[in-house]
Amino acid sequence: MTSQSYQIPSWLSGRLPRYTSYPTAPQFTDMEPETFAGWLGDMKKSTPLSLYIHVPFCAKMCWFCGCNTIITSKYERIRAFTDILLKEIELVGDLLGKDHPVEHLHFGGGSPTILNPEDFARVMQMLKARFRVAEAREIAIEMDPRTLTEETVAGYALAGVNRASLGVQDFDPRVQKAVNREQSLELIETTIGWLKNAGIRDINFDLIYGLPLQTMASLEDTIRKTIALEPARVALFSYAHVPGMKKHQAMIKDEELPSNEMRAWMPLRAAELFEEAGYLSVGMDHFVHPEDSLAQALADGTIRRNFQGYTTDHAAALVAFGPSSISHLPQGYAQNTRGLKPWREAVSAGHLATVRGHKLSDDDRLFGEVIQNIMCRMKVDLADVAAHFGQDTDRFDESVARLKPLEAEGVIECKGAKIEVKTDQRQIVRAISACFDQYLDHRNDNGGGNRNGNAREKYSRVL
Ligand code: SF4
Repeated sequence: MTSQSYQIPSWLSGRLPRYTSYPTAPQFTDMEPETFAGWLGDMKKSTPLSLYIHVPFCAKMCWFCGCNTIITSKYERIRAFTDILLKEIELVGDLLGKDHPVEHLHFGGGSPTILNPEDFARVMQMLKARFRVAEAREIAIEMDPRTLTEETVAGYALAGVNRASLGVQDFDPRVQKAVNREQSLELIETTIGWLKNAGIRDINFDLIYGLPLQTMASLEDTIRKTIALEPARVALFSYAHVPGMKKHQAMIKDEELPSNEMRAWMPLRAAELFEEAGYLSVGMDHFVHPEDSLAQALADGTIRRNFQGYTTDHAAALVAFGPSSISHLPQGYAQNTRGLKPWREAVSAGHLATVRGHKLSDDDRLFGEVIQNIMCRMKVDLADVAAHFGQDTDRFDESVARLKPLEAEGVIECKGAKIEVKTDQRQIVRAISACFDQYLDHRNDNGGGNRNGNAREKYSRVL
């Protein structure tokens, strides 16, 4: 493992945005559904789309969960949700028209595989009736391995799914018990067999570090077992322990969490193991098999970052369905109400469920493109970005000045307008991106906050 001598800021503790959008969702303000409807109606016909469906239900709560989900064992609720979802697709489809090809379709949650194949097929039929889904390069779904059968997997494949993300998290039974998510290695192996038999060969794993009872040795064991199963992509997320915001996280004992120092080393060791096995590191937290399409996107510079993380998707517009889902159109962002009830009431009454959003300014596009470059490629040429938007490079002077301490530490290298991340601590891209975030309050960069007054932790020397 490479030794670190520079000051690691507590940015790495997960308090900084993950920049799946710019500006980030906390900066959104109230928005009327009519605004989003106008944007949809104004979009050029035949604009390629990416579609996202949010299914906000799970069978059982994982104590580490940070998602917007509802626990239920009553399938009637899922069936009723599906009925409203179909109506929302119709409403949006009416505004968009039928000429839009779909490049990517993603089912997330929650646990979208809580939909039985019959209801999943109903959703797919509606999408196909409203959009040119047959042209989609990728139809992906997040899967909870504990709830699958060979028949359900075959059903999803029959409906067109060609990429599956398995929520694996950690293979250690002690860790699994501590987070209320028990699933054996054998279950994962069996699920992979079902997926491959059904023709779904692009398989992603989601892992988490920083979980209770995790040690460096147990994480290494999880990584080695993961590598042996040969997933196409791996996302290694850090667990953010915020029991004040997520009440169920109080079930996780503080004293069982790895130390901050251990947490800082874990992603480094994971990267080392994945790279030794031939995987490529992508951005701050993904690893990709060299034959996967994301590796190609990394090589040719077309990789992007969106709400699902790193992606090959560069459709001009992302249209999202379901409670709390966020659409990203050329004009800006629009988010549905988070609550199931208000979402259902709005859509049942024939209205869009938009409640928040943000109209993009020229500055948002300029600084957002810099952040995309840093998050995806670990480097940026500010002169190129400025020229693309018809601006002068001096627009970035204040941001570049904020980078000086990191340059002095050798974390980044600045050559003219070119900035490159030099460290193997890839999570630092969030901190570097934050220097370009015009919505953060940078007046005290040893502990500033955003414009809404949320506190940001001070830097701390942890290694
Ligand atoms: S399956 Fe995923 S969304 Fe559902 S409770 Fe567990 S972590 Fe949260």
